[in-house]
Formats: sequence, C-alpha cells, structure tokens
Amino acid sequence: MARIVMKFGGTSMAGIERIRVVARQVRREWKKGHQVAVVVSAMSGDTDRLVGFCREASPLYDPREYDVVVASGEQVTSGLLAIALQAIGVPARSWLGWQLPVRTSDAHASARIRGIDTAAMDASLAAGEVAVVPGFQGLTDEGRVTTLGRGGSDTSAVAVAAAMKADRCDIYTDVDGVYTTDPRIVPRARKIGRITYEEMLELASVGAKVLQTRSVGLAMKERVRVQVLSSFGDPDEEPAPGTFVVSEEEIGDQMEDQLITGIAYDRNEAKITLTAVPDKPGAVAGIFAPLADASINVDMIVQNVAHGTGSTDVTFTVPAAELTRALDVLERAKETIGFATLVPDTEVCKVSVVGVGMRSHAGVAATMFDVLAGRGINILAITTSEIKVSVLIHQDYTELAVRVLHTAYGLDAEDAA
Ligand code: ADP
Ligand code: ASP
Ligand code: MG
Repeated sequence: MARIVMKFGGTSMAGIERIRVVARQVRREWKKGHQVAVVVSAMSGDTDRLVGFCREASPLYDPREYDVVVASGEQVTSGLLAIALQAIGVPARSWLGWQLPVRTSDAHASARIRGIDTAAMDASLAAGEVAVVPGFQGLTDEGRVTTLGRGGSDTSAVAVAAAMKADRCDIYTDVDGVYTTDPRIVPRARKIGRITYEEMLELASVGAKVLQTRSVGLAMKERVRVQVLSSFGDPDEEPAPGTFVVSEEEIGDQMEDQLITGIAYDRNEAKITLTAVPDKPGAVAGIFAPLADASINVDMIVQNVAHGTGSTDVTFTVPAAELTRALDVLERAKETIGFATLVPDTEVCKVSVVGVGMRSHAGVAATMFDVLAGRGINILAITTSEIKVSVLIHQDYTELAVRVLHTAYGLDAEDAA
C-alpha cells in the first residue's frame, strides 16, 4: 500500500464526461489498495471567466473578494469529482481549503502555503475513503479565503503530498510529460524521461507552464517525487510513464551528456526604455528603487555605455500585467531620475535555453546568438544564470526562434522529418 496524490488540471476536469474519466483513473489506483488524495483544478476556462467577472465588477477590485470569487471554480470540481467517484462505488469526500485547513499567508491572489493540517483527512484515508481537495485555495490566520496565483493547483498538490508524506505526487495533464519545449508549438519536441528539480524550476520560471514554478521549488525543498503524465489514456489501464522530476544525484553522470535540456518562451513580459538617463552614480538606483517599492519585479536589464554625451539609455523588462503601473511609477519619479522619454514595448517575447550541462560547457550563448542572427532575429536584451541563457526578441519571431534553437541544440525527436 502506498500513499499517493493524483492532481488533475483544468483540461482534465473540463465537463462531466471528463470528470467521469478522472473518477475511473482514481478508482484504478484506489483498487490497488493505495490511500489516494486527489487535488483538482477548476474546469478549463472557468478561472479566466471568474477573473473577468471581478474586473467587470470593478477594475480596482478588493483582492480579498477576488479570492472568494476565483476560488469557487475548484469548489465546484471537487464536489463533482466526489459525486462521480461515489457513483462508481468509490467512497469519497471533498475537503475544501478552509476545512482541512490549508494555512496560507495573507498575500491575496498569490498567497503562499504555510502548512496543511491533514489529521482529519488522514483518518478518512485510513478508513479507505478517497479525499478530494480543491487546488489553488487556502485560508489566512484571520479566516479569509486565499488563492495561490494562476496555475497554483500544482503547488497545492505538492503541498498536500508533503504534508501527508505521500510516496509520490502524480500530476495528470493534457500532455504525456515534460518536453524539450512546448509540444504545441514545436511538433518535433521530445519527451524528457527524467529532469532535475533545478532544471524544471528554471524552465518553469522562464515560461514552461506545464508546472507552476512554486510547485517545483516546494517539491525540491520537501523532496516530493513528482511525475507529470497524461490523463487522456484509457482510465482503466496503467498509464505510460511520464516525466519524473528528480534530484541531480539520482540522474548522476548522464546529466553532463546533454548540453541543453529544454527551451521555453514567455510572452508575458514588456520592455521599457528610459532615454537620456544622466550617466552618474545613483542614476540606476533612482529608477529601480521606486519600482521595488511598488512591488514590481524587474527581470532583464540593459544599460548602454555613454559616449561623451553624459547620458545613456536604460532598458529593462517587467511583467506585462504590471506595465501600466510601472509607467505610472516612473513618470512620477521623472524629475528625480532625470530621463528624457519613456518608451514602452509590449510586442516582445523572452526565449530561454536551460540545461545543467552548461556549467561544464562553453559556447551555449554564442550558439544561441549565432543561430538567431542567421535568421535575422534581432536581440533586444540578454540575461544569463548558471544554467540558463535568455534573450528578448520581437514577439513575431517567437515560434521561429524556438524551432531553430531546438534544432541547433540537437533536441529534435529522432523520428521527426
Ligand atoms: P493543466 O490545466 O493540466 O494544469 P497546463 O495548461 O497548466 O495544464 O499545462 C500543460 C500545458 O503546458 C501543455 O498543454 C503545453 O502546451 C504547455 N507546455 C509548455 N511548455 C511545455 C513543456 N516543456 N512540456 C510540456 N508541456 C509544456
Ligand atoms: N484554476 C486555477 C488557474 O487556472 C489554478 C490551476 O488550474 O492550477 O490558474
Ligand atoms: Mg497548470
């Protein structure tokens, strides 16, 4: 007997027919005698719809009430899955975020899980019942409902797995594993058998939304065994193995063989250029301090060298959703910073190549620049980390850039034409 967590995302839960299929997948594992906790997302598209209602009600909505609204999507699917399980003879009940409870910080709309009390749920699992837990939602110490940020059900699943000391956490989704890049834009993408926590963390943080970044960080910290696999096979048959997210020690030497593990892209960044910023100590601090005070994350930064003019251009990126606020903050600090103009650009995309093999091999960035130049793709900004190189390009070239880089780093599937 094992203790397992099965997580099903929005597409897997999209409608009663899909929920019936999920119930059969759960029954398959439960029949083996495992203790099973299931974490579910809202039906695909429902969270977007609920977010839309909040915006329509008031663009300046209270985030505490936003959470009450958007958390409801998962309440619906957890109840429906419990009903579908009971209908096929599997004892099941739902445990809402406040019922367990899932304790979180009070950062509404992007709350962090502090701990989950699984005592009552454990007793029901021990009695042979399946526990259905809505993902994405939690409760503050003051007793208010929170949500964990978009895609947060992955994090709920990993947190439940850690709290109940599960043997594994299976993330069922609409692809059969983690690929070398998004298989929806590169049909030649290859499924990865095993990927390290570090690489998955980096890939997720630069745009591979197959797992929410925070879920990977939590799995790494708590050593939760995560597998990403498809919910679209025959629900009564054992599913094909997906992608296992594991520690570097577990992968061992093979890791060095592969230079690049994956490529991701992110269209949710916006570029801002400040022209003619005075070239003197403290000028850059004058730009980024007010942005930090407004809790706006800056990602890529480029500062040009001044050539005798006494001023320079500074370019950086912020989340596209924060662009209006960032421009407002900078405009208000214009006198202090002393720039000439603010030039925003939303038509950009960040493309990143990730791989631990980069630590021991030179030339990854050079290949990237060379390949993009060969296709006439202009690079607007660059950032690197120990295992990642990212470039900012015009959005129109996203698919082309990802495809040519995928080929250049030898990632194309062997059977691809
Ligand atoms: P769920 O609703 O199950 O949480 P998501 O839509 O959040 O599913 O994540 C699955 C999607 O992630 C896939 O449909 C795929 O388009 C996208 N994706 C992006 N990058 C990758 C990648 N490297 N490997 C697999 N899927 C990826
Ligand atoms: N339903 C939430 C969202 O769409 C959480 C999730 O699906 O992981 O962001
Ligand atoms: Mg998701």
